[in-house]
Amino acid sequence: MEAALKRDWNFRQSVDLMYGRAASFTDISPKLIEKIKVCNATYTVRFGVKLRGEVHTFTGYRAVHSEHIEPVKGGIRYSLDVNQDEVEALAALMTFKTALVEVPFGGSKGGLCIRPKDWNEEELERITRRFTYELAKRDLIHPSLNVPAPDMGTGEREMAWMMDEFRRLNNTNIDNIACVTGKPVHLGGIEGRVEATGRGVQYALREFFRHPDDIKKAKLRGSLDGKKIIIQGLGNVGYHAAKFLSEEDGAKIIKVIERGGSISNNSGINIEDLKQHLHNGLPLKEYKEGTFAKPSPQEIECACDILIPAATEGVINIKNAHKIKAKMIIEAANGPVTAMADSILRDNGVFIIPDLYANAGGVTVSYFEWVKNIGHIRFGRLQRRNEESKNRSLIDALANQNGLKFNKRFKSKYIEGADEIDLVRAGLDDTMRTAYVNIKTILENKPELGDLRTSAFYSVINNIALHYKSIGL
Ligand code: GLU
Repeated sequence: MEAALKRDWNFRQSVDLMYGRAASFTDISPKLIEKIKVCNATYTVRFGVKLRGEVHTFTGYRAVHSEHIEPVKGGIRYSLDVNQDEVEALAALMTFKTALVEVPFGGSKGGLCIRPKDWNEEELERITRRFTYELAKRDLIHPSLNVPAPDMGTGEREMAWMMDEFRRLNNTNIDNIACVTGKPVHLGGIEGRVEATGRGVQYALREFFRHPDDIKKAKLRGSLDGKKIIIQGLGNVGYHAAKFLSEEDGAKIIKVIERGGSISNNSGINIEDLKQHLHNGLPLKEYKEGTFAKPSPQEIECACDILIPAATEGVINIKNAHKIKAKMIIEAANGPVTAMADSILRDNGVFIIPDLYANAGGVTVSYFEWVKNIGHIRFGRLQRRNEESKNRSLIDALANQNGLKFNKRFKSKYIEGADEIDLVRAGLDDTMRTAYVNIKTILENKPELGDLRTSAFYSVINNIALHYKSIGL
């Protein structure tokens, strides 16, 4: 019925509609529903930087969606497509995402209208430092108020510049390096942050495959082993998800869709090899271990078990939703499915693991990084050797007193205490598993919600409403 309207919603409207749909199942007052929905504030900063002998004016945004918990959290994206509506939609998703995976942050998002490729490294550093200064002046970057992170077009390098600029301006704040997450490890970052969003997608899929009724709903069978996957976008998130799923779970990446075209191979693409090819600056079409096809809207519609949109919003929309042949979609990107497409896909029985859950791995590990920064100690530093010596005593006692013989690999793996990366991965795995079971249980108890997205929104709206009510709103 909705689809008969023949018009689609933009990203911001899509998030609002998905939110509204779930909210209609709650008994929260419409006024509070409205309050939770709106974006509290969006700051637009315009600043000039003298580059190549001229002053260039840049426009940046930082949207603060909800401050029911502070600091607020969310990435900063560098792209020419950045605009106020987009950052507000992304900030709203951050509020819901953090609530869903129980990390104690409100939601925020930022963006700078810039094509990073147009500038060299030195210029990008100057632009980033100036942007940071503008944000810092307004407390839009601050360890206890607002903590940015990487997003599309930004990474460890930009976070290092931002942290350093903030640190210079706030050198008496002992927590100053906690002003951003996603920093390089040697500058206060955490092991496993770069891979975190892709890793989270892997853990989410592993959890899905632990639930036979969900596997059945998706018209799939068995495990991840041998599943045919199409990945759209081989950036940080897509690359890590595809790499881990193929190397560790036996899934076959049968197609990688990039801006410049796609590579297909029914026996599975070696993701590391393809990434290396692109890293060497070679064009996709010269990659020989698969069939190249020019960019075409049909690529995303191809048959597969699992479709992973891992690039940007709105790629599955009213124009192609009814042609999607994937049995299930896991939204590694933010907002890849418009509200209209969501309704078409639901009608067609395509199983969707929604963005606010599926890509929450990034912010989860950001939370670990922030805790590490304000704790001023690496995870595992105190316990690791103590754990190791206790484990060694146990193994030695079993061997000496009971004559048990242990396989060498098992022995060293068992004895070794957990390192930071082990703890980060375990913490992320636990987070993804718990959140999946939470939204699945809610759906089981309230089947009228209909799907995991609505159940996820329903869960977080109730949770945030409780926060607001408890503080007297
Ligand atoms: N930009 C990422 C996201 O969309 C990470 C945000 C963060 O770590 O704060 O979830």
